Amino acid sequence: MEVQEKILQGAEFLVSETTADDIFIPEEFNEEQRMMAEMAQDFIKKRVIPVDERLEKHDIELSKELLEAAGELGLLGTSIPEEYGGLAQDFLTNMLLTEVASLAKAFALTMGAHTGIGTLPILYFGNPEQKAKYLPGLATGQLKAAYCLTEPDSGSDALAAKTKAVLSDDGKHYILNGQKMWITNGGLADIFVVFAQVDGDKFTGFIVESEYAGLSRGHEERKLGIKGSSTCQIFFEHVKVPVENVLGEIGKGHKIAFNILNIGRIKLGAGSIGGAKLVATHSIKYANERHQFKRPIGSFGAIQHKLAEQAIRIYAVESATYRATENIQEVEEKLLAEGKSYGEALLGAAEEYAIECALLKVAGSEVLDYVVDEGLQIYGGMGFSEEAPMARAYRDARINRIFEGTNEINRMLVIDMLMKRAMKGRLDIMTPAMAVQQELMSQTPATNGAVEGLFSTEKHVIKNMKKAFLMTAGATVQKLMNALKSEQEILMYLSDMVTDIYVAESVVLRTEKLIKIKGKDACTVQADMTKVYVADAIERLALNGRSCIRSWAEGDERRMLLSGLRRLTKYEGINAKNARRRIAETLTNADSYCF
Ligand SMILES: Cc1cc2nc3c(=O)[nH]c(=O)nc-3n(C[C@H](O)[C@H](O)[C@H](O)COP(=O)(O)OP(=O)(O)OC[C@H]3O[C@@H](n4cnc5c(N)ncnc54)[C@H](O)[C@@H]3O)c2cc1C
Repeated sequence: MEVQEKILQGAEFLVSETTADDIFIPEEFNEEQRMMAEMAQDFIKKRVIPVDERLEKHDIELSKELLEAAGELGLLGTSIPEEYGGLAQDFLTNMLLTEVASLAKAFALTMGAHTGIGTLPILYFGNPEQKAKYLPGLATGQLKAAYCLTEPDSGSDALAAKTKAVLSDDGKHYILNGQKMWITNGGLADIFVVFAQVDGDKFTGFIVESEYAGLSRGHEERKLGIKGSSTCQIFFEHVKVPVENVLGEIGKGHKIAFNILNIGRIKLGAGSIGGAKLVATHSIKYANERHQFKRPIGSFGAIQHKLAEQAIRIYAVESATYRATENIQEVEEKLLAEGKSYGEALLGAAEEYAIECALLKVAGSEVLDYVVDEGLQIYGGMGFSEEAPMARAYRDARINRIFEGTNEINRMLVIDMLMKRAMKGRLDIMTPAMAVQQELMSQTPATNGAVEGLFSTEKHVIKNMKKAFLMTAGATVQKLMNALKSEQEILMYLSDMVTDIYVAESVVLRTEKLIKIKGKDACTVQADMTKVYVADAIERLALNGRSCIRSWAEGDERRMLLSGLRRLTKYEGINAKNARRRIAETLTNADSYCF
């Protein structure tokens, strides 16, 4: 793929503009990528769905068999280079496969933990011997992997892990002692990537084989959802791990843990979108089938609002997810062309877009929860029954807001990483923030800078959303300085402003590009979805901005900032009720999610 001239750096979207031509949209997946996705879908439909009930009852042997079957098809090796038996697919394809895998419900997690957090640390941080030893087996599923970071006393604060690794007297082994908790694939893995403290405080990764004496597994956790995936504690009692199995460098385990998380987060976003599309389709079908008051419930405005809103949010976050995916892929290709290794390239690219990865994890998981919650409501009493799909979807979805960093932690990370970027000079946010302050103090009306062409109003709104964020964040940082990091509520408001900007801009650019490809008449519903999303996004942003300013500013300063915010978030809006009715009509006519 040709590297684009202008790739925006991570978070640069806040201070720069992107054109529709510069982004990738899901409608542009090529035939090969679609064929891979169809192959995965076919496998799930034929092999996984028919045995779903057995998986839900913890049939671990079946999970292993299915992993091996997926491996035979190449589905476990899509990120692994060919020299290690993988299919070496690009990042866009891997993200599409993650989305499709969500159809496998809990087994998606079994596969995802194996191919993601289980395999990637070895792929990206393993030395040549480790890669040659483990990757071929991981690609075929003959070896099954898990990732052990969390402990009973260290979850969000992962680096506070207590598991110890002590070098043996002969210098040949590290002796591991400790306990890990909530380990996905814990009950079936042959290979564990384990983090432990060497000499008390050198956080380090290790590759630990299940056969090593002293490693034992706890019982399967009794979970709220995703019951078909194995989750248990793993205990290490004087486990002798050969020094050759140190992963990466001693004391540099945090690099492994955090870098893998960037990829995990954006993948979680894609998986959530896949799950949400399935639930939206169930909701639409039920709304068509179920009659009350002699009408299908899908003909009632209250239900149409829900159906439309499910679709709008899915479409919007999907737009942002694949926009960021292609950015990551482009930077990866650029780094590869500069001579970086396969691992360094993808990790470097994912680090560049770590802010986008974190916000997409939050946005994706929250769209999924919104969609299942409203889906359950559309099902009424049947939503509460285990006979219908919603109860299960509701329970299965909930975990996504908790793992790969809770949504609170990810929200805070968005602002923390943004400030660090600004301080390191990687992103100049203060100059544009000052410019907005100047603009507001001058007599120039905030309508200045209106754009022409497709979605001119929405693009103008987004420009102003950026200004509103820059004004609010700039003033907040200037006032609170270091104290900001302990004002978590403010960090959350600011983080949600960033997310609304990114997703709103992405949905506008996607639909604009789609119209360029398919013509305006073919995209009227997508245009409706875009306009409704932007209209709601600016309302949310205005509220978050006000809440932020009121949290610390007083007197004239508060009045001035609130007045600036009002000017920047002034928007007449559209008739969203009618737009949602049109969207719902398209969905009920299609009898499925169809965008
Ligand atoms: C089904 C399942 C599968 C999992 N799979 C794996 C796996 O394969 N490998 C693995 O290593 N781990 C795994 N985990 C663990 C998961 O990553 C952690 O549960 C998660 O990181 C949260 O940690 P915790 O549960 O200790 O919650 P805590 O960290 O105790 O958090 C509790 C609450 O406090 C909030 N909080 C914590 N710190 C702060 C703070 N500084 N500021 C504000 N709020 C804060 C959190 O957001 C959360 O709402 C899994 C968990 C589950 C439930």
